[in-house]
Amino acid sequence: MQFPPLPRGKNSEDTLKRRKILEETLKLKFRHLTNNSLSAEAASKNIENFIGVSQVPLGVVGPLHVKGQNARGAYYIPMATTEGALLATVNRGCSVVTASGGATCRIIRDEMTRAPILRVDDIEHGIKVINWIGRNMETLRRATAKTTSHGELVSAEPYLSGRNLFIRFSFATGDAMGMNMATIASQQMCDMIEKKTGAKTISVSGNMCTDKKAAAINYIGGRGKSVLADVNVPESVVVEKLHASSAEIAEAATRKNLVGSAMALSMGFNSHFANMAAALFIATGQDAAQVVEASMGMSIAESTDSGLYFSVRIPSLEVGTVGGGTGLPTQREALEIMGCAGSGKSPKFAEIAAALILAGELSTLAAQSRGELAAAHSSLAR
Ligand code: NAP
Repeated sequence: MQFPPLPRGKNSEDTLKRRKILEETLKLKFRHLTNNSLSAEAASKNIENFIGVSQVPLGVVGPLHVKGQNARGAYYIPMATTEGALLATVNRGCSVVTASGGATCRIIRDEMTRAPILRVDDIEHGIKVINWIGRNMETLRRATAKTTSHGELVSAEPYLSGRNLFIRFSFATGDAMGMNMATIASQQMCDMIEKKTGAKTISVSGNMCTDKKAAAINYIGGRGKSVLADVNVPESVVVEKLHASSAEIAEAATRKNLVGSAMALSMGFNSHFANMAAALFIATGQDAAQVVEASMGMSIAESTDSGLYFSVRIPSLEVGTVGGGTGLPTQREALEIMGCAGSGKSPKFAEIAAALILAGELSTLAAQSRGELAAAHSSLAR
């Protein structure tokens, strides 16, 4: 079979041409991926070689009561997924959290990182470059400011090994997730460091950032927003809504999330952070590949005198409410459901995301502590 080259352009005409080539070459007729309201022009900053839209089912859970510093009150939360039973379990978690008075959420760190790799001559040269960077942080800040009005260089952490010098730059990125912003600013600083010190930039991303790969540096220090959430669930609510006791849930959490994850040397000391993160990211135009980082974190359950104390630590929640895919029409509407579209909303969105992860985590853990996970999937998803 001959595969003709595809036109590269970004407008509607190029889109039609590509679809035609595919239909004729592969003897297919597209009825669904062409049936949508998103134009090639509207998607032009988000994709190349556009041919249509992949429709992912979108649902909503809630109300979920959030007690954050930015998100305060009840929210409906959109989630896009093809995993049957997911929204049912998260929705149950939302009702438990809300019946318990809400989830307290706090952002404890908010910085995006980019870590270029520079080649230096030897250790002595590497240390000289590090010292130059230390003395010239203000100059580097000014260089960053030339590339972005919302991004700001916060720190530059050096890691030297032989002739490899990594500088892990951290940025405040306003309401954007910040990865383009941080990359463009880092390139600008690398150009300056090269000129002033003779170090050679090998790549603006040296993998100590660490983007889209599970990494202890993110697990420990955080990347994007580091968020904590917790809830105290009265025993009556545990029993009535989760059909378990707090002691059963606490035991499952310890043996599964802590011991099991340690046995596997996993960095996901949790049941399924990735499920809530993926469905929320896809619904709201976040970078879906960064679910890798969001999947890392810990959930802790403790049986108390009054019921169940449950908490999550999500060190690397890389989200924004401007930039990337957040301005696409359906993604923006999804953000609007939570009052989180646009400037000034990313801390609120991160707190709601943390509460959602907490709710989904709690419900699934309770189901697993009662041996209900397989039954729920076979009745709801098969
Ligand atoms: P972006 O869309 O590239 O940049 C955000 C834009 O929004 C900037 O132009 C910024 O202006 C503007 N802006 C307006 N109001 C803002 C506010 N309140 N807060 C912050 N910015 C505001 O988005 P990004 O978050 O930097 O990057 C996200 C994108 O990067 C995603 O599409 C993701 O898939 C992609 N990505 C890139 C890389 C990479 O290496 N380049 C890696 C992973 C992901 P100013 O800059 O003038 O402030």
